[in-house]
Amino acid sequence: MKKKEFKTESKKLMDLMINSIYTNKEVFLREIVSNASDALDKLHYESLTDKKMKVSKDKLEINISIDKDSRKLIISDNGIGMTKEELEKNLGTIAKSGSEDFKENNEHKKDIDIIGQFGVGFYSAFMVASKVEVISKAYGSDDAYIWESEGIDGYTINEGSRDNYGTDVILTIREDSDLENYSIYLEDYEIQTLIKKYSNYITYPIKMEVTHQHLKDKENENDKDEYETVTEVEVINDLVPLWKRKEKDIKAEEYDTFYSDKFFDYEKPIKHIHTKAEGTIEYNALVYIPSHAPFDFYTKEYEKGLQLYSNGVLIMEKCQDLVPDYFSFLKGVVDSSDLPLNISRETIQQNRVLKTIAKSLETKILKELENMRDNEREDYNKFYEAFGMQLKYGVYADYGMNKDKLQDLIMFVSSNDKKLTTLKEYVERMNVDQKEIYYACGESVDKIDLIPQVDAVKSKGFEVLYCKDYVDEFAIKMLGKYADKDFKNVCDDRLELDSKEETEKLNKKNEESKDMFNIMKEAIPEVKDIKFTNKLNNHPVCLSSAGEITVEMEKAMNAIPGVDNVKAEKILEINENHDIASKLAKLYNEDKDALKDYAKILYAQARLIEGLSIENPTEISNLITSIISK
Ligand code: ADP
Repeated sequence: MKKKEFKTESKKLMDLMINSIYTNKEVFLREIVSNASDALDKLHYESLTDKKMKVSKDKLEINISIDKDSRKLIISDNGIGMTKEELEKNLGTIAKSGSEDFKENNEHKKDIDIIGQFGVGFYSAFMVASKVEVISKAYGSDDAYIWESEGIDGYTINEGSRDNYGTDVILTIREDSDLENYSIYLEDYEIQTLIKKYSNYITYPIKMEVTHQHLKDKENENDKDEYETVTEVEVINDLVPLWKRKEKDIKAEEYDTFYSDKFFDYEKPIKHIHTKAEGTIEYNALVYIPSHAPFDFYTKEYEKGLQLYSNGVLIMEKCQDLVPDYFSFLKGVVDSSDLPLNISRETIQQNRVLKTIAKSLETKILKELENMRDNEREDYNKFYEAFGMQLKYGVYADYGMNKDKLQDLIMFVSSNDKKLTTLKEYVERMNVDQKEIYYACGESVDKIDLIPQVDAVKSKGFEVLYCKDYVDEFAIKMLGKYADKDFKNVCDDRLELDSKEETEKLNKKNEESKDMFNIMKEAIPEVKDIKFTNKLNNHPVCLSSAGEITVEMEKAMNAIPGVDNVKAEKILEINENHDIASKLAKLYNEDKDALKDYAKILYAQARLIEGLSIENPTEISNLITSIISK
């Protein structure tokens, strides 16, 4: 056959591979071995669904061999194989999985990112090989074909020969250069190490001829040590997947290595949960809580889910129905022999076995998180910093359906020590005379700490929970109550901290000042009400809100694209004990225009303190300047 050209994207990708300065070239082996394992999975799967096929699982294997003289590294499998058309289709273009991402990102990213992120499959062979041959015979076919390429120039497909179905990938390893030692890929020791590193849990035996130095048996006590070289075929992977082994036989490092290999995370997980359920429904699960959120966690690109196996055969890469949204941070594997192999994304939601597994897994994770919260608080804090937001979403999502499960897992920063605390801990610390759970919202702990009302509540000896994420208040509103205690935003105008006499005195004063406030309101019509307050220590003013929508919610909701006129009902509160109060009374009697100007300035200040912008900064600036230059 004439040489054919690769499709454009394939060319670009191949060019990247061949000229790559990517330091992690060794991943080529993982890619090829995974393809072989997939081919074995496919054959095994077909044989399970098609009774006429006589393929027994224990015959399925991967073989690796090395011929140093001809610099060949050969990876063979007796899997499903490829027809001529499939060779053309699968190896002439980039496989779908990587290609879309590749096309989209390829303009902006360096090759290192691309290779690292997408694991570009078969073509990665060209990072280490000057020539790649693929001899394949599809299961059920009599003909074998050979696909051959030396890189960018194109490929050929010709008739070939192979005894049985399956595929051989033959790499001619490149000559060493000044910069790169390729010959290591012709050393059995190196290949063995790479298999352990990347492909240890492939569920089929990976066999290779391995050379050992053995100490010879001595004929005589006093004989010198003598070594002999023994070559034998060995299975070099562990085969039994980690999740099927007994927890007590597994070392902590093994759990960590499995995690980093499988989920490509450079940092150790905070926790692993290894469970085995026996009984009506049998399953093994190995689930991890990562120690940090992946870079795309809070974007819509992030896909939650666990790998789903049916008795060692992977049936779904990311099974979403195994984890609720609030646990979308989980990584891991679930394996159950009670699941049918032909489960699909469509039928999976109705699957009873899967539902049961998901439920029991959720209970286990909840328990583990509670346990961490109570006994390993530092780890829990770290976890919470990374994923707490997700739990708070969980409280208010689905109309609060899951709030009971999650309310004791969420935490807020306490005004006492600026550390995270649970609602339960807060309530336990409440004074006997404290009726409500106080909270305050703002952009950061420091900013919340400066809110006048927070200061006031704290100085009465009460603890305040600081809400710095915009979901916080939505979650709190969804909870409504905790341990029979209402939540109270300290910026709510109905905040009552005073005795009856104090309140009456203040009400009287507000009643008397009504006319004055009405004049002020003419200058700031968007304010629903103006009143004196006595809760502000030394601060002159604050903004509070009436009704259900608070100022923080106004900010959060207006930040949603398409929403821009949510307004909290704002109340300007003025400290009755501050000098400004008497100044206002004076202006009311002497200069009503000035009184209006003061109202504008005070309102602008209150908005700024609340983190809201002011709509008329020039006017305010001019007013202030004219007053201070008098
Ligand atoms: P991916 O594995 O992400 O699909 P690859 O570029 O690694 O992409 O492989 C392309 C395709 O070639 C695979 O999807 C598979 O259909 C086919 N293929 C590769 N290696 C083998 C093999 N050893 N046996 C059968 N098919 C294979």
